[in-house]
Amino acid sequence: MTPTRLLGSLAAAALMAAASAGAASAQQNFVTIGTGGVTGVYYAAGGAICRLLNKDRKTHGIRCSVESTGGSAFNVNTIKEGELDFGMAQSDVQYNAFKGDEAFKEGGAHTDLRAVFSVHPEPFTVLAHPDAGVTKFEDFKGKRFNVGNPGSGTRASMERLLDAMGWTLADFALASELKADEHGPALCDGKIDGFFYGVGHPSANIQDPTTTCAAKLVPLTGAAVDKLIAENPYYAAATIPGGLYANNPDDTQTFGVLATLVTSANVPEESVYQLTRAVFENFDEFKSLHPAFASLDPARMVTDGLSAPLHPGAEKYYREKGWLK
Ligand code: GLU
Repeated sequence: MTPTRLLGSLAAAALMAAASAGAASAQQNFVTIGTGGVTGVYYAAGGAICRLLNKDRKTHGIRCSVESTGGSAFNVNTIKEGELDFGMAQSDVQYNAFKGDEAFKEGGAHTDLRAVFSVHPEPFTVLAHPDAGVTKFEDFKGKRFNVGNPGSGTRASMERLLDAMGWTLADFALASELKADEHGPALCDGKIDGFFYGVGHPSANIQDPTTTCAAKLVPLTGAAVDKLIAENPYYAAATIPGGLYANNPDDTQTFGVLATLVTSANVPEESVYQLTRAVFENFDEFKSLHPAFASLDPARMVTDGLSAPLHPGAEKYYREKGWLK
């Protein structure tokens, strides 16, 4: 074979290899994680996961990106449609979406929904304008309250709580549907008296109004909350520590859920395995990427808050580590 010929056949072989690799990985090499508003913790969680996964891009060929979205319900619905590979979701949303219960009755059970791991706790957080005359949730009756945008887990959980209390949206003078990124400024501008948000702590979203207009955390306790906790496995009592936010020196009692990462059974095992591996092999770095992740424990992340079956790619990694019995 002449040198030119050899070169020619090598080039052809390389081209063919590139073409077949391209065909095999065209849908697999890009993964997108649906998160929430940019001032929340989901966006930071998605960013941290992608950053660690992208570190080894040369080895596994996966490129990860995040998308700011309306939140949990939007994410699981969009995963179902095949338009997102991964999404952050509240543990109650994961549970109800997989079973086709509560807010997901109409759309039916999302049986292809798969769990990857859980992340930080998300206490339901109620903030009031300091001049609203509010010290407990019941004081919001007849006032202007942000119940969260449709598509957020926040909104789904808010509706559950109102139901349990025997309230409807009509019990507020105004039940606004602002997105999480908008409720803080609206509160400090005096457009609303309070808002409800399921979010990890500390969060920039809560830091801003507590600093800017001395907004006050309002406890969520009482018979309706106790009943919700007693009857639903995904709810637990929670405390927002005093002093975490400006102008809020005392502990705030509330209840909440866990943030989780979910995907679809249709997402390739290799993508989920590499993502899971990237997070847990770089776990100290992961924990350092947001203060809400500081006390995470891998043993709990692979079990707590997960009601959909584990995705085989995640399960494979957990078995290698001996984390699953
Ligand atoms: N839990 C919120 C929701 O699904 C989002 C919280 C966040 O973005 O950190 O509505």
